[in-house]
Amino acid sequence: MTAARICARCQRPIIDTRFETITVHSSSGARPDQHAHRRGDPACRPIRASER
Ligand SMILES: [Zn+2]
Repeated sequence: MTAARICARCQRPIIDTRFETITVHSSSGARPDQHAHRRGDPACRPIRASER
């Protein structure tokens, strides 16, 4: 079982096996890559207050 990936853009769990990997450039170099829904994925939308 793999850990759930969280979208860096909308903070929702990424269910689809296809996703984008965002390489985070930082001076420390300590941050791991982040993941995000593919561009245009309807599942990628901000979480509304009622869903928290
Ligand atoms: Zn997303």
